[in-house]
Amino acid sequence: MTRLFRRWGVVDRLREWSMPNPQIHLFDWESGNTIGKHVWEEEVLQELNGDFVTLHYGDLLTVLKELAVEVGVTVRSDTEVATISTKPSPRPSVTLSTGEVIPCDVIVGADGFSGQCRKSLYGQVEQPVPTWRGLYSGWVLEEQAKQCEEVMKMTEDGSILMWLGDKKWVVAFAVKSKRKGYYLAVQVFLPMEEDEKPEIGWTDNISMESIMRLVGDCEPRLKQLIKFADFSALVPMHHRDPLAQWVDPNGRMVVVGDAAHPIYPSSMQSTGMCVCDAGALSQLFHHLHHVKEIEPLLRGFEDVRQKRVTYMAQKEWDQLYMCMMSKGEEQTARNEEFHRKLAAGLNAFDDEVPDGNAALNQWESVKESFGYDAEDEANEWWQSWGSLLERATFKNITPGLKVPIEHAHHEESD
Ligand SMILES: Cc1cc2nc3c(=O)[nH]c(=O)nc-3n(C[C@H](O)[C@H](O)[C@H](O)COP(=O)(O)OP(=O)(O)OC[C@H]3O[C@@H](n4cnc5c(N)ncnc54)[C@H](O)[C@@H]3O)c2cc1C
Repeated sequence: MTRLFRRWGVVDRLREWSMPNPQIHLFDWESGNTIGKHVWEEEVLQELNGDFVTLHYGDLLTVLKELAVEVGVTVRSDTEVATISTKPSPRPSVTLSTGEVIPCDVIVGADGFSGQCRKSLYGQVEQPVPTWRGLYSGWVLEEQAKQCEEVMKMTEDGSILMWLGDKKWVVAFAVKSKRKGYYLAVQVFLPMEEDEKPEIGWTDNISMESIMRLVGDCEPRLKQLIKFADFSALVPMHHRDPLAQWVDPNGRMVVVGDAAHPIYPSSMQSTGMCVCDAGALSQLFHHLHHVKEIEPLLRGFEDVRQKRVTYMAQKEWDQLYMCMMSKGEEQTARNEEFHRKLAAGLNAFDDEVPDGNAALNQWESVKESFGYDAEDEANEWWQSWGSLLERATFKNITPGLKVPIEHAHHEESD
């Protein structure tokens, strides 16, 4: 994602509000003992032209909105889309709740996993499958964070802290936000009781007692951190079927981001996947010359992105289940593996390659995720299919332009 930001010229604006993450520390939930460590090998990231940074979602949206406005996008804030028509004739359109109708050539549905674009493509009422796990998302503002002295100290260089327990997982890191100032983000993943409502979202009704009851016994640093946190969201984690078709049958609407491929809330790759959608779609639309090319280009976009997001989503779910294992043999084996790698100076989440050191292991493990370039993938698609598409589009099109000639001038040749 940062590679695209660099290319789009916004990386400096984002750098001001982002913190590079040098490493992840893994702690045992109850004892607080270190069970593993994952260091981002600088040479690997440099070679892949990637970065691992944390930033406030609102700050990211602000920068992207600025960029969009600078290149001529009209943004209507606080305006709801009431209905969508994808019929190509006379033209597709969206009708706002104010009654205003906006005709357009193509509709890009970036309205999230519960928006109407996904619903219309899904074709029936979607039945998300509960995992009986939920995310409590919160933060500790700087003033209170001073009370969590040790956590403050460990996160000030951008390090991410993780505590792993019995089906419980906490992720904490510092954020340098334009909106909220410096704070500690606290994401607490806990089992959800079966009778809890599966669709709770942003809410101020989260009781600290219920969180603490679910958190149970934990080491003092973690208890302190959770105690001082303000929790603003309880988001249940659901499996949602991947959409088979991202393009509307009329060929004039496509879904992107969570509307196309929702994972669970707070998955580290979600936002990156949304940004890569933008990169691939815009790269393909650079080649648009005629309205007839809209549908094949949208299908090309689906082709370029679908395989990739399926792969990334699986990795993210694997990571979640690995971090939220129940106490038992599997968890013991996982922790022993982390300990072994720690003692050998290897990274917790990297796979090992024969004769590999930390950097080589990391290269092999992350080249797929960090080395991916959505714009390059789109360009490759164009190289393979673009000329065919242009030939097919323009074969039966004759320019409807007639130029009257009043005088003809002939040059005499010797
Ligand atoms: C608590 C929480 C924590 C998260 N943490 C992380 C994280 O740490 N890292 C990460 O990468 N991802 C994280 N995510 C996931 C990430 O936020 C989503 O993947 C991302 O926001 C998806 O972006 P999107 O634009 O596709 O959809 P959304 O962000 O859902 O945006 C959809 C937008 O469409 C608007 N909309 C919907 N319907 C209409 C309509 N009819 N008219 C007008 N507007 C409409 C909505 O208001 C919304 O603004 C988190 C998510 C949650 C809930």
